Amino acid sequence: MKPNIRIVEVGARDGLQNERRWVETADKIKFIQLLIEAGLTTVEAGSFVRADKIPQMKDTPQVYEGLPDGLKKKYSLPCLVPNMKGFESAMKVGVREIALFTSISESFNAKNIGASIEESLERFRPVALAALAQEVKIRGYISTAFGCPYEGATSLETLKKVANRLFDYGVYEISFGDTIGVAYPDQVRTIVQELKHHFDIHQLTMHFHDTYGLAMANVCAAYEEGVRSFDASAGGLGGCPFAKGATGNVATEDVLHLFLKMGLTTGIDMQKLLVASEFIFSKLNRPSQSKAHQAYRNKYSLCSD
Ligand code: MG
Repeated sequence: MKPNIRIVEVGARDGLQNERRWVETADKIKFIQLLIEAGLTTVEAGSFVRADKIPQMKDTPQVYEGLPDGLKKKYSLPCLVPNMKGFESAMKVGVREIALFTSISESFNAKNIGASIEESLERFRPVALAALAQEVKIRGYISTAFGCPYEGATSLETLKKVANRLFDYGVYEISFGDTIGVAYPDQVRTIVQELKHHFDIHQLTMHFHDTYGLAMANVCAAYEEGVRSFDASAGGLGGCPFAKGATGNVATEDVLHLFLKMGLTTGIDMQKLLVASEFIFSKLNRPSQSKAHQAYRNKYSLCSD
């Protein structure tokens, strides 16, 4: 049976890209494998960006090549590609799903990808066409959907326009990113209500960060509005290299715990997720930031799940 809730694990890309401490290629591969063993079926695997921009992602080709073929056939392992060059590198190692990434803030786009919103969309057009021609799936990302570190509030009209363009390009879903963690539940409700008027709610994923401790409240608000897909990272890995002070993604363990308590199915095994999370945090030499993780390990929770 199809789970009620889909959690997209972004720890191995969105999470690790913000970590200064180098994580060995073999450890990145093992982390992705452990996440899949835990039941996650969509796991971001890396990013085909310039090595000088995001050094932690420079071994994405080797990570992807190092993953077992069976696993690559069976699961979604999206990799970010910023342009045609990145796409070509991804195709060389057999990537079957890409993610295209833009924002709705001109200032953020300039710093993050060195292009205006329009330029980024134009840059994606040939990439999307090439991807579809090769039956490569495309995931869309819109960051700063709930606010921008440079511009403050962002426009819902621009959000809808950019989402429309990405859907026109053939993305199968869009992840709406609260890149700097400024979203709050009322705002999430307003934005999701508006988006679901225009788009199929099953093609909307929410991507929250916990900067102000509201990520879980935002997950609940989006759930109540009908969203059933959420990005999260094991142990709350991450931040954003282009948004100073932005803390990690909402933790996969916390999101999983919430949905378990709501009696919903995710297909994910908490104990195995704890193992995956502990593995990567042991390589980073710090503990998981997930509250649920700590509670499960401290046995405050007597859940058998
Ligand atoms: Mg993120």
